[in-house]
Formats: sequence, structure tokens, C-alpha cells
Amino acid sequence: PHGWGFIGASDIARNAMIPAIRAQPHNFVKAVMSSNLERAKQYASETDIPVAYDSVAALLADPDIDIVYISTTNELHHSQTLAAAKAGKHVLCEKPLTMSIEAATEMVKACRDAGVVMGTNHHLRNAGAHRTMRRMIAEGKIGQPLAARVFHAVYLPPRLQGWRLHKPEAGGGVILDITVHDTDTLRFVLNDDVESVTAFSSQQGLASGAVEDTVMGVMRFRSGLLAQFHDAFTIKHAGTGFQVHGTEASLFAAGVMKPNPPGKVFLQHEDKMEEVDTGEHEDVYVVGVRNFVQAVEGHGSPSATGEDGLHSLAVALAARESARMGASVRVRYQ
Ligand code: NDP
Repeated sequence: PHGWGFIGASDIARNAMIPAIRAQPHNFVKAVMSSNLERAKQYASETDIPVAYDSVAALLADPDIDIVYISTTNELHHSQTLAAAKAGKHVLCEKPLTMSIEAATEMVKACRDAGVVMGTNHHLRNAGAHRTMRRMIAEGKIGQPLAARVFHAVYLPPRLQGWRLHKPEAGGGVILDITVHDTDTLRFVLNDDVESVTAFSSQQGLASGAVEDTVMGVMRFRSGLLAQFHDAFTIKHAGTGFQVHGTEASLFAAGVMKPNPPGKVFLQHEDKMEEVDTGEHEDVYVVGVRNFVQAVEGHGSPSATGEDGLHSLAVALAARESARMGASVRVRYQ
């Protein structure tokens, strides 16, 4: 059996990860930690978690816990991952991994040195739509991919309108929140890496201070492919989408950049558009937890590794720097 400890009494843990862990045989959530013991206890009782802690050290000392899931605000992921690795616990960490490349590199190295598995919770890789597009592109179904477009402008639900909008020191802002997911999904589907980014960001009424709530930009990949992205917390009615245009055909996916996307994928060739079979829809968090647990048991690797989290963070940091400087930025991966 695997006992999970939650560092962070968060919304995502409650709504996505508890059900995903409980869906795996022999996995249980043993404890939750919040900096406020009362909140930890209340969260634990509402979610049927047996134990509540108010310190990372106490949670890591629990011998029933072999996996920690870190879903605190982003400035805390680094020190918490280092502590968990030191305690010999496997780490599934939320995105963005942290706030700098140096810190992310240290996290990946600490887990590697400690011999524990590290994963980044980039859930969209687990969606049938994205897996199918990746396979079709690898099989040459659209020829050479030349361009991509990601539409990920959504409205931040009122219950989440806190640190993401007002706390740069906690890693707020749409770029660290959403552009990391676009990057990871593009890397996964295209099997390619970003070389440089140009972005414009803006504040459109939700965020305050040094925090952007919308961004548009272009990434250039190593192959020469160009990808447009539009991410926002402020757009209510756009829906989401993902497109890849190749020399022989185009892929159009709709409704695929959201928490748990079944979505639809279409292949367009000349004037014919046909729907693509993306398989039975499975909850993307369930797939992610299953792959992580299998990696812990020595089979395969997590859906997204620590290195994948480092890559998506590197691109997001370059996009943010580009928006601030008004110039194109080459992505720095180390
Ligand atoms: P929350 O805002 O729900 O929780 C983050 C922290 O805020 C908690 O650890 C808790 O710390 C504090 N907190 C939460 N609720 C309250 C409250 N009611 N009152 C006071 N403090 C509170 O975070 P999210 O779930 O939105 O995000 C957590 C992490 O997960 C982030 O890194 C985010 O980027 C990531 N995420 C990933 C998603 C994915 O699909 N992969 C989706 C959503 C988020 P404490 O109790 O110690 O004060």
C-alpha cells in the first residue's frame, strides 16, 4: 500500500487529487498539512483524511507516508520538495515547480540524489485528445508540423481569485499558472522544445500590483515551428482549443485545455474534416496518479517528470521576462 501525505490543504487536492488517489487500489491519503492546525483539522474532517499536521516536519516523520503531494502556493514547493526528498519520500509536485530555474534544478537533483521519484502534476498530458495528437504527429499523419495555436484564455473561478491575482511573491500571475501547462502540452504533443519566446501581458481588471492576468505570445521551437498562445483569467466565453498545422494536414482540438478535458479532435485534409477517435475518456488526474504510483513501484516514469516541470517553468519565466522587457527572450534551461 501507498500512504500519501498532502503538503498544502488546497482546492486542487480536495477536488481532483483525493478522488484520483482513492481511485487507485492500495492507495490512501494518510495526512494533510496546513500552516494553520485548525484549518488542517477542518479540511481533514471534511475530506475523511485521518490525520492533520501543522508542520512539514511532522508530516514527513509519519512512517505510513511514502509519497507526498505538494500543492501549496508556488514559493513553498522548493523547500518542501527538498525536505521530502531528504526524508526519503517520493514527490508529486504541483506546477509551476517553483519560481526560478536554479531552485527547480535543485529540486530535481535532490530527488535524484535521494533515489526518490519526482513528478510534476501537468495533467493535460494524460488526456486522450493530447495523447492521440502526439501519436498521430509521430506517425506522420500531418506531415511536418509547422505551426501550433493554443487557446487557454479562461475565467478564473471566484473561489480561486486570491493569491494568483494579487501575490507575485507566491508565484501569482497567469504566465506561471497557465503558460506552463501550454508549454508542457506543446512539448508533449510535438515532441519538441522551445528555443525562444516573445510575449505581451496585460492587466484586464482582475489582477493587481505586479501580476498579469492575461498574456499572448509566440514560442519558437527548435524545429522552427512557431506556436501562438493566449492565456487569461479574464475571458468568460472563448472556450479552449489546441491546433497543429502540418505540411500535409491540420489537427483541430476543441475544449481540451481545461481541468478534465474529454474535448474533441478533428483532422482536416484539403476540404475534408473528420473527427478523430481519442479513445474512452478517463479522468486525467486518475491517469497521472496511476502512472506516478507505477513509477514508484519501478515501472516506467511519471506522466511528467521533474525535468518536464523544469522545462515548462523555464519557458514561462522567459515569457514573463519577454513581456516585462518588450523583447524576445531565449529560454534558459539551466
Ligand atoms: P489553494 O489556494 O486552494 O491552496 C494553497 C494554499 O493556500 C494552501 O496550502 C493553504 O495554505 C492556503 N489556503 C487554501 N485555502 C485557504 C483558505 N480558505 N484560507 C486560508 N488559507 C487557505 O491553491 P490551489 O489549489 O488553487 O493551487 C495549489 C497549487 O496547485 C498551486 O501550485 C497551483 O499552481 C497548483 N494547481 C494545479 C492544477 C493542475 O491541474 N495541475 C490546478 C490548480 C492548481 P495554509 O493552509 O498553510 O495557509
